[in-house]
Amino acid sequence: MAFIPVNKPMIGEEEKRAVLDVVSSGNLVNASYEGGPKVREFEGKVRRLVGTKHVVAVNSGTAALHSVLMALGIGPGDEVIVPSFTFLATANVVLACGAKPVFVDIKDDFNMDPAAFRKAATKKTKAVIPVHVYGYPADMDEIREAAATRSIRVVEDAAESLGATYRGKQTGNLSDAGCFSLYATKVVTSGEGGAISTDDDELADKVRLVRNHGQLHGYDSRHLGFNYRMPEMSAALASVQMDRLEGFLRARAKNAKYLDEKVAGLKGVEFTQGAEGRTHVFYLYTLRLKRSRDKVQRAMAAAGVGAAVYWPTPVHKTPLYRKLGYAGKRLAMTDYSAKHVLSIPVHPGLTPEELDRVASAFLAAVREHL
Ligand SMILES: *Cc1c(COP(=O)(O)O)cnc(C)c1O
Repeated sequence: MAFIPVNKPMIGEEEKRAVLDVVSSGNLVNASYEGGPKVREFEGKVRRLVGTKHVVAVNSGTAALHSVLMALGIGPGDEVIVPSFTFLATANVVLACGAKPVFVDIKDDFNMDPAAFRKAATKKTKAVIPVHVYGYPADMDEIREAAATRSIRVVEDAAESLGATYRGKQTGNLSDAGCFSLYATKVVTSGEGGAISTDDDELADKVRLVRNHGQLHGYDSRHLGFNYRMPEMSAALASVQMDRLEGFLRARAKNAKYLDEKVAGLKGVEFTQGAEGRTHVFYLYTLRLKRSRDKVQRAMAAAGVGAAVYWPTPVHKTPLYRKLGYAGKRLAMTDYSAKHVLSIPVHPGLTPEELDRVASAFLAAVREHL
């Protein structure tokens, strides 16, 4: 029986053809302010979905976050509030700007605690980056409201949440700017890739400049920038993936519902991402196990099912951040979650038989170890 990975890219004939067409055309990349035709086609599709005035494609989610912080002028002396229960990128881009990441705790649903954000805000706080963890929207109204009273800019790390909604609005359209990732495991992929969504004309202009070494016409650099351009091959792949997003999300929701029914009522197992007024895209289907998480994970691996832990180490406890002096920071729910979460496969590539194997392997492991 084939091993079932926790996530896998859904690449079909149409994606292959789209990439080959670009390769054959010879127009592999377009180093202009606007970007090439495939980049613009992809940007248009994200814009229509997310509903912001601008979308700018870049070559990773990390580049998206870094470009936005640079465009906002974040620099030395500034503080940016971030969760620690996230991927490294959310905090690393703050360091890359020479600013100071300030870590705050999460709530039961794995997303930033608005009260913790309010408490951590100081005169130096320039921005806050809530993350829509596992594809489930954070408490954006509370975060936005607390930020507005202190003139703090809000940037969504929407790397995992393309297509998710909060009170009827898409993630990425709930703040000054949204940052998406198209990394290989994400909801839609271009191998590596990213995108920025914003209604702010000036911010959009600046991230377009950052993407292309600050050049408008060529050799006229007017803003510090890098090579954050998305190649045309990637954009062609991403553009086809955008057409399939609705189907992907339908399949993820259906698989999640099936898993919900299977795990309902299990003692010591909790699902905490189901508040009203939000749609979850189920980039990951993540449960919290009261105990024996590692044993359950190993038992599932032995049964051929790739259950995974995101994230086993909070960012502030990684060696780099320990060295920077964050080791003693107490974030109770963050630490607790890192020890108890387990994500089980929910991706659209699962056959009904495979989904059944995922559920059976989980139930068997829980019965044995919890
Ligand atoms: C994937 C991810 C990123 C970074 O995206 P890359 O495309 O890998 O650079 C940032 N934040 C979160 C929460 C992610 O899951």
